[in-house]
Amino acid sequence: MGSGPIPGANRREVLTVSRGDTLMKMLVNAGVERGEAHASIESLRDVWDPRSLRPGDQISVTFTLDHDDGEVFHGLSLEPDPARRVLASRDDTGEFSATEVKAKLSDQTLRFEGPIDSSLYMAATAEGVSPTALATIIKAFSYDVDFQRDIHPGDHFAIMLDRKVAPNGQRVGEPVVTYASLTLSGKKLAIFRYEDSAGDIDYYDQEGHSVRKALLRTPVNGARLSSGFGKRKHPILGYSKMHRGVDFAAPTGTPIFAAGDGVIEKAGVNGGYGNYVLLRHNTSFHTAYAHMSRFGKDMKAGKRVRQGDVIGYIGSTGRSTGPHLHYEILKKGAQVNPLAVKFPSGRELDGKELKRFAAARQETERLYASLPKASTMAQAETTKAKN
Ligand SMILES: [Zn+2]
Repeated sequence: MGSGPIPGANRREVLTVSRGDTLMKMLVNAGVERGEAHASIESLRDVWDPRSLRPGDQISVTFTLDHDDGEVFHGLSLEPDPARRVLASRDDTGEFSATEVKAKLSDQTLRFEGPIDSSLYMAATAEGVSPTALATIIKAFSYDVDFQRDIHPGDHFAIMLDRKVAPNGQRVGEPVVTYASLTLSGKKLAIFRYEDSAGDIDYYDQEGHSVRKALLRTPVNGARLSSGFGKRKHPILGYSKMHRGVDFAAPTGTPIFAAGDGVIEKAGVNGGYGNYVLLRHNTSFHTAYAHMSRFGKDMKAGKRVRQGDVIGYIGSTGRSTGPHLHYEILKKGAQVNPLAVKFPSGRELDGKELKRFAAARQETERLYASLPKASTMAQAETTKAKN
């Protein structure tokens, strides 16, 4: 008998990646000759980065059987995410080449709503809204809603999300929040995701005003105001001194957000301020952040930041008695009270753009009203599956 391959006779082995595994190691352990393992991995690089291999990933390895009961390594494949499969396989010349197969994703629009008993976070996650979507919503409302004080029993939320679903039903990527509303003490606030005619995407209120205000007054979540702006007795130096910022006490490591879009002017140690960041927002306003335990990723002078980016973490570096953020807003170079300063408001759509927005908003509201509640739908599906 010859030693050629038996047509169609393949053996497939599925390997699960463990911590510390490399593709090379796994293939060699599965009996693949080193040179061939290397060649197949090299070809995969065209469509996939082997360093992105994660514990739990599954690798499918195929061998072709020949007439001498020998096995020839034929190729391998894996699904880096539910939306695509990458494979390296041997072609007629014996060389490996890579292919990427993308799954057809379908769009799903979901509606969530319910009462808020204690917190929006608890109420919405209980209904099935993802934490990432909620973070977007909370950020968008944070200019107008104080989530510690403004939420009362009887309040209500409504959320609409778009998401991508793979053919196997698995969700792909993060959902996009297209609409959200909060009814707080009988008053309804809504945000709409809108892509303007220039292609810029932002959240707007009912009237077409961007939810972004010029600067955040509290650039840290869940913090307690521990010292206001103005004259006070200095906790370390003893004598009365002007406090040119506000202090927010929070545990070490709590993220600090950029108060507005801008460019970092300084990021480094600055005397009594400890680890310090100075952000330039526009010709009038700067903000400063002091005593940080460490800086956010890549936060260096010259870096452009967006409002809400993490620029650093709460700490107690410099002249400080405990973990807190010392926050300053500077107007034309002089510190002003962050809790009292008036900002110019964010973008307001007008003219043709406002008309275009109003049409998009009505379409969003119509779509929302036409959808069943997602949790009811999930229950209906479960009931159907049981029957
Ligand atoms: Zn301070």
